[in-house]
Amino acid sequence: MALICGHDAPAYGDPLCEHIRAATAAPIDHYLHYTGRGVERRRLCGLCRNEAATAVTGAVCEDCFDATDSSTRGAIGRPQTLEAARPIPGTIETLALPEGAGTVLDCAASSAGILLLSADGRILRWDTDTGACTDVARTTVAVPADAEPWAGREQALRLHVSRDGAHAAVVIDHGRTGEVIDLATGLVTIPLENDGYYSSTVPFSLAFTEHEGRTLVLHRRTWRTIEAADAATGAEVASIPIGETASAWSGCFHGALHPSPAGTRIASDGWWWHPYGRTVAWNLPPWLTGGTDSWPKDVDWALLPACEYHWNRPVVWLDEDRLVLGGLGDDEDEIVPGARVFDLRTRRDDDAMRPAEIATFGGPDGRFFAAHGLLFTSAVAGLDIWDPVIGARLGTLAGFRPTHHDPIRGELLELSASGLRRWQTSHATV
Ligand SMILES: [Zn+2]
Ligand SMILES: [Zn+2]
Repeated sequence: MALICGHDAPAYGDPLCEHIRAATAAPIDHYLHYTGRGVERRRLCGLCRNEAATAVTGAVCEDCFDATDSSTRGAIGRPQTLEAARPIPGTIETLALPEGAGTVLDCAASSAGILLLSADGRILRWDTDTGACTDVARTTVAVPADAEPWAGREQALRLHVSRDGAHAAVVIDHGRTGEVIDLATGLVTIPLENDGYYSSTVPFSLAFTEHEGRTLVLHRRTWRTIEAADAATGAEVASIPIGETASAWSGCFHGALHPSPAGTRIASDGWWWHPYGRTVAWNLPPWLTGGTDSWPKDVDWALLPACEYHWNRPVVWLDEDRLVLGGLGDDEDEIVPGARVFDLRTRRDDDAMRPAEIATFGGPDGRFFAAHGLLFTSAVAGLDIWDPVIGARLGTLAGFRPTHHDPIRGELLELSASGLRRWQTSHATV
């Protein structure tokens, strides 16, 4: 294909309109135009934007693309949403919250039942089959009265629980403190504090996992360090080293932690100085076995694509190897609904740190969940179910907006003031 810049070189980047291509002396801002054919997109100037459907663009070489690079004015149009609709069976069950639970701030699923965090600090264990509900602990973690929201994100209490239901953690998302609690005794095993350095920009980094028969808690010790500790004793198991051996990490602020379903990998949805969002992932067993000295040589850490000013994005594992990031685009100002699927086993030819992107498609928006190899997304209109291999929507449950995933019972849960609604994800596979 001939390039509109006339150079004998491979095409590079998104196609450009002629006005942008010619403006190398003083690059002009662009609009990212999705044509509606798959995820095809191109860069248009302000004039061409007004007639986007008929605007003419062409490909250029890498040098000419870089010479015109400029700020984005945002995205216009949307990527295509591929439809492969089939009936989605199964009823959505509605449960009233237990009497006496008060205002429920958050819930978390364990094999010992659903835990509820009440606004008065009580942690309750709820057997949704029998309806039995018991107080098991009380937290003193509280959002400071003078907490200011960051970019519209309020500090808020968040509940986590270990898979076996023996330990819970209450933390302040976009805040700096929390605690791990032994639910058999109600005692705090680990007081948490993340040093407060830009902590308002991210949910409190925290995840439970299991390793060699122990329950471990991973948490943000400082802005650039994730530590794994024994949930029962607080003893350190492994840490991300800082200093000379970690120069590649010198600017990473860790964010929400997303363990893979079986706990062999983990992703941190963090951001890097200047700022740009950049999710990183690494292998857990070699790190938890080898300790801090195993970093970085044994953990196979990987860098997902950077996105200017954008993090706290949907992140979910389809399985132990495939990670999905929500949103298409490389800049906060041009993000559009969509999903990008990466295979951590395969790295790019041009950069061994970068996993291969194996699928990219438009449509998915809101919270992301995964089960049975399918992607579930919960947005204003309801739940959408996607085949992440072909990138198509399989069906919709209008009005069902899950907030949590219970992988133990195979259910998506919608927690609201009026109760808990739940639906079996296995219905999507038939
Ligand atoms: Zn133009
Ligand atoms: Zn060129």
